[in-house]
Amino acid sequence: MFPAQFEYRRARSTEEALSALAQAGSDGRILAGGQSLIPAMRYRLAQPAVLIDINPIQSLDYLREAGGSLVIGACARDFALETSKIIGERYRLIADASKVIADPVVRQMGTVVGSLCHNDPAGDWPVVALASRAQILVRGAKGDRTIAIDDFIVDSFATAVQEGELAIEVRIPTPGDRTSGSYQKMERKVGDFATVAAAVQITLAADGSVADIGVAVGAVGPKAMRVAAAEKLLKGAKPTKELIRAAAEEATKIADPTADNRGSVEFKKAMSGVLLRRALEATFERLGVGGLK
Ligand SMILES: Cc1cc2nc3c(=O)[nH]c(=O)nc-3n(C[C@H](O)[C@H](O)[C@H](O)COP(=O)(O)OP(=O)(O)OC[C@H]3O[C@@H](n4cnc5c(N)ncnc54)[C@H](O)[C@@H]3O)c2cc1C
Repeated sequence: MFPAQFEYRRARSTEEALSALAQAGSDGRILAGGQSLIPAMRYRLAQPAVLIDINPIQSLDYLREAGGSLVIGACARDFALETSKIIGERYRLIADASKVIADPVVRQMGTVVGSLCHNDPAGDWPVVALASRAQILVRGAKGDRTIAIDDFIVDSFATAVQEGELAIEVRIPTPGDRTSGSYQKMERKVGDFATVAAAVQITLAADGSVADIGVAVGAVGPKAMRVAAAEKLLKGAKPTKELIRAAAEEATKIADPTADNRGSVEFKKAMSGVLLRRALEATFERLGVGGLK
């Protein structure tokens, strides 16, 4: 199907994008990688009257470490993350996820910021962003604001970005030496959205106990969910097999999936626990904690 008629505007700066957004009001929509928006327009699930293309804004195409964070600009493609040396060496959770988002063709165009703004309940980046305690910088007519990911994710396909605002970048705290993570995604075939996904990031204290932890699951509810009870169980504790099993079980308790062609409610609930256990085990193993009792 062809999209409904729309006006196309190219923004060459964030100021131009904001001005176009202000003029368009509720009729305007930002175009980033277009990998979610264009299909939605073709199916007429989205019918923006004005499309504001931010791709010409070269100043938003960056991926760098600054101020204790990995900072990813709104025009940085998934492909840039997948091929980044810094990410490959230091951001294990992000490195894992960057290889399993859609397929290479989609990753050439899709953006992390666009994925967070789209906030598909089965999207990979919202799950990863929760576990890594990301923050999103958003710009509007009244200035900039920084939103913690827990507040940014509101509901299915709904975020804290307000009409007239542009998401500028996502900031992910730089992991220290004793930090690692893992992303586990179950998909029917390569390139598919997740049937179930789990993300974990852990920092160990000098004595081997868990100093900091982020845990999230995806595709098992109306939005990506932090598994706060699992974090609470493990924080301050030294990992054991039993603790990991109990923490993973917390995912099955909060999982509230819908049945579809990827699986039944029972299957997805059970798999949320399995994937979370795998993510926790993989993270501890990467941190050099082997042979857990
Ligand atoms: C075949 C296929 C398979 C896919 N598989 C997966 C998958 O396995 N996992 C997964 O997570 N995703 C998957 N996707 C989605 C893909 O990763 C998208 O790239 C991503 O969801 C959206 O990013 P985008 O840059 O393309 O955003 P767009 O499609 O351009 O925009 C998406 C939405 O976000 C808004 N938006 C974008 N950027 C901004 C901004 N800076 N400020 C404010 N609003 C903004 C847009 O207005 C729009 O509403 C798939 C897509 C396709 C086509």
